[in-house]
Amino acid sequence: MDHRTLKEEARTAIDAVSPELLELSRRIQSTPEIAYQEVQAAGWIADLLDKYGFQVTRGPGGVDTAFIATLRGKGPGPTVAVIAEYDALPGVGHGCGHNLIAAGAVGAALGLRELMPRLDGVLKVFGTPAEESTSDPGGKIRLLESGVFEGVDACIMFHPWTATQLVEGDLAVTALDISFEGQAAHAAADPWKGANALDGVLLTYMNVNALRQHVKSDVRIHGIVTHGGDAANVIPDKASARFAVRSLDKNYLQEVVSRVEDCARGAALATKTQVTVKKLLTLENTLSNHVLRDVVKANLEAEGIDFEEELFLPGSTDFGNLSQQVPAFWFMLKTHRTGLTWHSQDVAEEAVSEEAHAATIAGAKVLALSCLDLFLQPGLLTRARQEFDRRAGVS
Ligand SMILES: [Zn+2]
Repeated sequence: MDHRTLKEEARTAIDAVSPELLELSRRIQSTPEIAYQEVQAAGWIADLLDKYGFQVTRGPGGVDTAFIATLRGKGPGPTVAVIAEYDALPGVGHGCGHNLIAAGAVGAALGLRELMPRLDGVLKVFGTPAEESTSDPGGKIRLLESGVFEGVDACIMFHPWTATQLVEGDLAVTALDISFEGQAAHAAADPWKGANALDGVLLTYMNVNALRQHVKSDVRIHGIVTHGGDAANVIPDKASARFAVRSLDKNYLQEVVSRVEDCARGAALATKTQVTVKKLLTLENTLSNHVLRDVVKANLEAEGIDFEEELFLPGSTDFGNLSQQVPAFWFMLKTHRTGLTWHSQDVAEEAVSEEAHAATIAGAKVLALSCLDLFLQPGLLTRARQEFDRRAGVS
């Protein structure tokens, strides 16, 4: 079995299905569905994989708009997975271009479809909804909790962007809702009977500002007041804020989050109010698996795609959580104009451009060829696992 011939077969297979991939991309882009409402997108992607002989599980782990498509090889071997995302952003449709991630992942899977009967192992496509969710845990987090990634040896994905860049890290984030409950009173007649919940919020904000001097430089803390009272002449008995705390490292992040909770507790003590801190979600930083990265890198080079190394993304994704539990790698793929503002209407419009679609087909080939390398050289997966075991959970 000649490795180069197999690669050429995968490329040809992807070219052959490219009209269907681009049609899928256009359908998803023109029917944007936000977090956990991706009923049509998940259905279309799963239907296409089903049509080509993948065994499809819809709604795995109780996540309705998720799916897992599986294709077994000729014998036992590693499980290699490509990841699909397909959710849109509220208000701006596919302003993150996830329609292209879906098309690319399906393309990679279909590129390997006719090769699998000659390979040992299992190929999977995970359909992971709600990556953009800012209040509920994203799809990958819920799927991880349900255990469906157990036994997976490697996960890879590309994400559309204004440049092709290898992701080395990003920011872990915890989002918090902080609510104060005090005592209402007439603000002029008998304010001494009141306990001001708004003061609790404001002092939390001030305490957090004082904390900033004492945290590492990669930390970002940003927040808003979500409720500050109802009338100027009433001491507010309820007030609340939402904060997000970020760091390059998930362990250090938790130290800072606990300091922010202390800021709120101190504010409650000072104002004689009760505080409740609710952690909404935590996205962990991406642990970029360097063995998988080098495989992808070689295939980017082979496909003639220029790229930059070592991107530290000033954002957060639930792919980070996945990468902390399974050896994983994702990269940014240039699908959009340089300099474009991300998460915008412009990104949504360009997410079906000829350039974006050509890049997606090329990206699908890079994913397929990388999976093929992993199936043909399982030693790579052993090394990826060793690196993962050494680095996971370690600062
Ligand atoms: Zn995105």
